[in-house]
Amino acid sequence: MNFRFRQMASHDGPKQLHEALDVSRVVKGRKDIHGISPLTCDLTAVYVEGNAVEVTGKLFAELDMSCSRCLKPLKRKVDIDFEETFKRIDTPEEEGQNEEEDDIWLIADDQVDLNPYIEEALLLNLPYAAVCKEDCKGLCPSCGTDLNERDCDCEKERIDPRLAALGDFFKK
Ligand SMILES: [Zn+2]
Ligand SMILES: [Zn+2]
Repeated sequence: MNFRFRQMASHDGPKQLHEALDVSRVVKGRKDIHGISPLTCDLTAVYVEGNAVEVTGKLFAELDMSCSRCLKPLKRKVDIDFEETFKRIDTPEEEGQNEEEDDIWLIADDQVDLNPYIEEALLLNLPYAAVCKEDCKGLCPSCGTDLNERDCDCEKERIDPRLAALGDFFKK
């Protein structure tokens, strides 16, 4: 998914960018994410003064995950507001983010590939440590019994689910 500055400057009004991207490699490192639907991108690119282009819109995908406590499969959705500004510059040395102009990407090429920026936005918005329900009791650490279904006979200190939730909180 990309745009060209020169094309945008002569384009009459905003340009719609719609595409479904294969983003499976973005979630590869996450053991609790087993699959992800193509990422639906509904974006609008607008040319603004100063040879810049604003890209805004929505990113949407569905995830196949497992509960971080009991490992039960579950589905999650990600709904992301995307907003990035790109500015064309003539000097390649300055390419990248400019500290003075925060949130504006300086680009030396006429063409901008949006995929890396989209993938980054997705990565930052992936759900972390999903649970099937807030009070999921998880699995017994000794015998693996799903404690939501029944108790086991293992000798152990039963962790209060509220404390377990607190533990999850601190992992973040
Ligand atoms: Zn669970
Ligand atoms: Zn047990």
